[in-house]
Amino acid sequence: MTAQLIDGKAFAAHLRTQLAQDVQRLVQEHKVTPCVSFVLLGDDPASHYYIQSKAKTCAEVGIISRDFKLPASTSREELLHLLTTLNNDPTVHGILVQLPLPAHLNEREVINAISPQKDVDGFHPFNAGKLATGEDAPIACTPLGSLMLIHHALGTNLEGKHAVVIGRSNIVGKPMAQLLIAQSCTVTLCHSRTRDIASIVAQGDIVVAAVGRPELVKASWIKEGACVIDVGINRVQLPDGSSRLVGDVAFEEVRQKAGWITPVPGGVGPMTIACLMRNTVAAAYEACGILLNR
Ligand code: NAD
Repeated sequence: MTAQLIDGKAFAAHLRTQLAQDVQRLVQEHKVTPCVSFVLLGDDPASHYYIQSKAKTCAEVGIISRDFKLPASTSREELLHLLTTLNNDPTVHGILVQLPLPAHLNEREVINAISPQKDVDGFHPFNAGKLATGEDAPIACTPLGSLMLIHHALGTNLEGKHAVVIGRSNIVGKPMAQLLIAQSCTVTLCHSRTRDIASIVAQGDIVVAAVGRPELVKASWIKEGACVIDVGINRVQLPDGSSRLVGDVAFEEVRQKAGWITPVPGGVGPMTIACLMRNTVAAAYEACGILLNR
């Protein structure tokens, strides 16, 4: 079997088009333009690149983005003061603090200081709790985008399917498992201490790999026809000195056995930013008292 490719790039483009229409409607009917604030500390080139591409996508969808680029030496008090100001500003619907933070700042404290209503990353424990208890809340963007791709491949009824999630981070693995439980899947969550991981992954009708280990998941781990979602983004050096991006799944061999597979790049990555836009637009609708179907 050769897997069908799940084109995250095309799906994300479609989602952005829909969101642009949602923004237009909000502007016309409520005179409100969604606005997200990006807070970035320090000079990390990768973080600057991420913020730049997020801001570009905002412009495409019609969302206002405001950048707060602060020195790495910014104190805890200065950062918390900025977050309080943004929390209290009714024209700001979303706040995103780009991670990782400089070492002197406590990531958990900073995330907790963002108003849960403006937590467009879906990282606040209040929102993680709402997801776990089945209430509507901003959902972490990467798992949300991954679920959309699974629905796109398998249809919206995932009842009874065995989903295996590899990775237990707060931002990908755990919320992914919660989302799949809410879809009535039977969910197994594997991590670095899981024993005989290959035999567990081989039970999955759906496999989501969010590990950060280049091409860890082999074809021998995969059930024939499974839907494989590769969240990993790993840069590997090639013998000629150049480098390329690979996922957590050994793509070329797994695609011979899976039913559906996401490529890296062009799979989950574009969905993450599109879902950030979605969470921002939903927050702006919510500020107007309207629930945008997440
Ligand atoms: P993390 O480092 O926080 O978590 C990795 C998880 O993998 C841990 O729970 C760990 O227990 C598990 N793990 C490590 N080694 C393992 C092994 N050998 N077998 C089984 N489990 C193992 O990482 P994260 O933030 O969840 O990100 C995971 C990957 O996804 C990274 O490659 C990251 O770059 C990528 N990522 C991509 C996007 C995107 O937009 N596509 C977004 C977030 C993260």
